Amino acid sequence: MAPPEEGSDVLVLPDPPRGPLHAARARASFCWKELALFLEGEDVLRFKNAVFSALESDPLFAHPRGSDLSVEKYQELNFLRCKRIFEYDFLPMEDVLGSPWRIRVLVECLGMYDWSLATKFFLHLLTFGSTIYSSGSERHFKYIPKIFSLEIFGCFALTELSHGSNTKAIRTTAHYDPTTEEFILHSPDFEAAKFWVGNMGKTATHTVLFAQLYTPGGQCHGLHPFVVQIRDPKTLLPMPGVMVGNIGKKLGQNGLDNGFALFHKVRIPRQDLLNRTGDVTPEGAYVSSFKDVRQRFGASLGSLSAGRVSIVGMAVTNLKLAMSIALRFSATRRQFGPTGEEEVPVLEYQMQQWRLLPYLAATYALDHFSKSLFLDMEKLQHGLLGNDQSATQAELGREIHALASAGKSLASWTAQRGIQECREACGGHGYLAVNRLGELRNDNDPNCTYEGDNNVLLQQTSNYLLSLLERRGPGGPRVESPLKTVDFLESYPDILGRRFTGPSPEDCWDSSGVPLPLLGPGLPGVHGGAEVPRAHAPAPRAASAAGRALADERPLHPVVPEPAHSPALPRWLLFW
Ligand SMILES: Cc1cc2nc3c(=O)[nH]c(=O)nc-3n(C[C@H](O)[C@H](O)[C@H](O)COP(=O)(O)OP(=O)(O)OC[C@H]3O[C@@H](n4cnc5c(N)ncnc54)[C@H](O)[C@@H]3O)c2cc1C
Repeated sequence: MAPPEEGSDVLVLPDPPRGPLHAARARASFCWKELALFLEGEDVLRFKNAVFSALESDPLFAHPRGSDLSVEKYQELNFLRCKRIFEYDFLPMEDVLGSPWRIRVLVECLGMYDWSLATKFFLHLLTFGSTIYSSGSERHFKYIPKIFSLEIFGCFALTELSHGSNTKAIRTTAHYDPTTEEFILHSPDFEAAKFWVGNMGKTATHTVLFAQLYTPGGQCHGLHPFVVQIRDPKTLLPMPGVMVGNIGKKLGQNGLDNGFALFHKVRIPRQDLLNRTGDVTPEGAYVSSFKDVRQRFGASLGSLSAGRVSIVGMAVTNLKLAMSIALRFSATRRQFGPTGEEEVPVLEYQMQQWRLLPYLAATYALDHFSKSLFLDMEKLQHGLLGNDQSATQAELGREIHALASAGKSLASWTAQRGIQECREACGGHGYLAVNRLGELRNDNDPNCTYEGDNNVLLQQTSNYLLSLLERRGPGGPRVESPLKTVDFLESYPDILGRRFTGPSPEDCWDSSGVPLPLLGPGLPGVHGGAEVPRAHAPAPRAASAAGRALADERPLHPVVPEPAHSPALPRWLLFW
């Protein structure tokens, strides 16, 4: 199936239909089309149009009306939709490398439609496919066309039933047998079953499997990835020695078949070890171009970070959806007002603005952060593929790992809280399933857990920052990093030493000198502040038009500066 037209005859930004929102839109102090073009660029807008119009006119993507689908039926339909996305060929193989931004945009479009579809597509093409590409070598490139043609369908199996965060404790083993030049994969018991693996429940034929690699003599070389066939692509029956199945209903994303697998002495060829950072010779000797385990682990952090960078984008997409629903509703929902006059749209109440607008600001800030992190990640991937073993590349890997870990936590938690605020801001209608806020809340939730639990990830970023400070010590080298996001540590004694004193509520209202989105109420990381009564009354009608409120530079709530901010604060910390 040919990809739908993106050409010039497609109207890039059609006017929305005239309806109840028209009055609020007409009061905007800026041109939304110019803003959209500025934020996205014409190429992205055209690409999004092409994807959305294809889905809109294809009956396979029509949302079923009436009662919910059974999980079985939903998963079947989700696979058919995923297959259709490949048939549309939105992302031809050559484009994935040439225009990587298209991947990000396509996942955003699919997620806007349904996260079960986006994650299914993403896990197969990007998590499975790109791990093979970035962790393997030429001998594995044979898999790439099969991934695009769906001859094989993939998943990524790291977590086990009894270990997720503590990956070092993973117990699936891969013993090398030099007599047959094969690895023998084995799960010692049920607790070592691979678990939670997206696509593994019903549809995956292959997996990237992480196992502890042993060479003859019993030496363990740590976790390594292998490509393993788990089902027959024609019948979908399990391969000999593999026990595989579905883990059951989840809180959300139920169109995705998450699964488990146990391996009983399954033999795979030596060549199916993904060998970019370490390999085993036919005779059974372990070889690695990396001098020590730490350096090898550092090089593999790049591929782990990629998933987290994508989750930042997924969480931002959820915020965009929830904010659009809640703000549009609030601009048209009217409650209370002067006797005898028309009631006031709830968006004009300062309290509604106080609850929603900081999340709107966070959406823009995180969207920008997500895009810039994606570009930084791309730079790192180029270095990895070019086998760059320089100190700068290693530092970049550590910095992006720290940024992606903190960024994923910040974005997914902000989305979690933002969606909930949007749900409540829509009153009872926010609780009606058709309005989607419940589905968004449930589908966003695992963003806080997969690819690393947020709490554990924050510890990883803290470790990174503390290790830089430790390395600096008294009289040590300056704290520097390739992306300059940690340079602020140089002035940490000054930052920690500063105190805010606000003798009166008016001082607290004075926002001059405070970075704008830094201290929104309800955002994670915002503590303390002077007790100032919340505004309950509607703002004066003449001054509180929704459009103007959005553009008003004055904060809608008291802003209490945290201990001062050095001009050298890293851009990611500014969103904290
Ligand atoms: C929807 C979904 C899809 C998934 N898809 C996949 C997939 O495709 N492939 C895959 O391999 N995995 C997948 N996972 C697994 C996921 O990566 C793990 O669930 C995640 O890494 C957390 O591990 P865990 O569940 O073992 O939690 P645990 O590590 O057991 O953590 C439990 C709790 O303990 C806390 N904790 C743990 N260690 C510490 C510590 N040192 N200090 C303080 N607190 C700590 C954590 O914060 C957490 O709150 C998926 C999970 C979900 C929910």
